[in-house]
This record gives sequence, structure tokens and C-alpha cells, in this order.
Amino acid sequence: MTPSPHPLVLISTATHDVVLDLLYATPNNVAGQIIYARPLCLLHRDAEVGLRRAIALAAESGCRLKIFDAFRPHEAQVLLWDTAPDRAYVADPAIGSNHTRGTALDLTLIDPDGRELDMGTGFDEMTSLSHHFNPGVSALAQANRLLLLGIMEGAGFAHIPHEWWHYALPQPEHYPLLGSAGLEALNPMVPG
Ligand SMILES: [Zn+2]
Repeated sequence: MTPSPHPLVLISTATHDVVLDLLYATPNNVAGQIIYARPLCLLHRDAEVGLRRAIALAAESGCRLKIFDAFRPHEAQVLLWDTAPDRAYVADPAIGSNHTRGTALDLTLIDPDGRELDMGTGFDEMTSLSHHFNPGVSALAQANRLLLLGIMEGAGFAHIPHEWWHYALPQPEHYPLLGSAGLEALNPMVPG
């Protein structure tokens, strides 16, 4: 039986006009260490279609998208779980994260000068201020979060209550969890 083609699509500034800031490929994240051996931004092909819609909707608002995280291989999810300061904000790898399905992404909006819009907290801040509709967030940050929410929901993604930056395709049961096998074909410059 011939294996099915890898469902992940490489996202780059050149192909998608997005800014990438893959914090899990650096030590500058909640785990305080490099989570990804491969600094690649990958999404399931269905999510990539939604991302293209989101990019177009953001452009209509004079914004671009800045992506912090997308596909997360299973082994990286295990490392994140093992190092998480608060597991309420990390999916148990035994259950699986939608990032590991390639159907979730973490992102924000940037202005034409590349500055991140004020969202009230940074990406991955594990406090109640990161929750959607938290009244403790400034009116400007609320408006910016609602703009991102409208763009992403309009593009077909769903939000979760606790993280303003996280969006995923609905119906995750349609998408299997994925490991990093086969990724070297997507980036032969990075050793296996
Ligand atoms: Zn996420």
C-alpha cells in the first residue's frame, strides 16, 4: 500500500506574506528551552486554506498575521507537557493537541510597520488575563482581540476560551495526531 502524501503544508513569509516568530524554536517561551528541532511553520492543508482566508481578511483591516506556533510534533507536545508551569494551558499528549493534528495555530495581528497590536497580554501568558472577554483587559486590547476573533472565525477557525491567540479548525476528530516522521522531506536543509 502506498502511504498517503504528508498532509502538512509549509507556511513561509515568501509564500503566505505572514511574519513568523516561532517561539518554540527558541528558548524564549514558557518552557524556557528549545522545543522544536526543526524551526518550521507547518499546517494541515485544510488549515492552510483557512489561513489564506484569514490573511485576506486581515489585509482588508490593514493588518498582517504574525504566527507564533502551528504544527507541533507529538514528541514536542510531550516536552511541553513535561515542562509546563500550569498544565491547564497545555493539552495532555496522551489526549493530543490540535497543534499535533496540524489544525491549530497561535497568532496575533501586526500593523503595517510590523508592530504587534496590543492584545493585553503576551502570547502564552498563562493567566486569566489571556482569556477571551476578560473585563480586566483594556478597551483597546478588547477591540484588537475581537478583530482577530472576527478574522479567524470568518476564515473558518474556532476559538477556545482561555487563549486569545489560539485558533483551530472545528471537528478535530477528522484529523489524526501526527509525528515528525517525513518532515525532513519538507526541509532537507535541516538534518533529521
Ligand atoms: Zn495554541
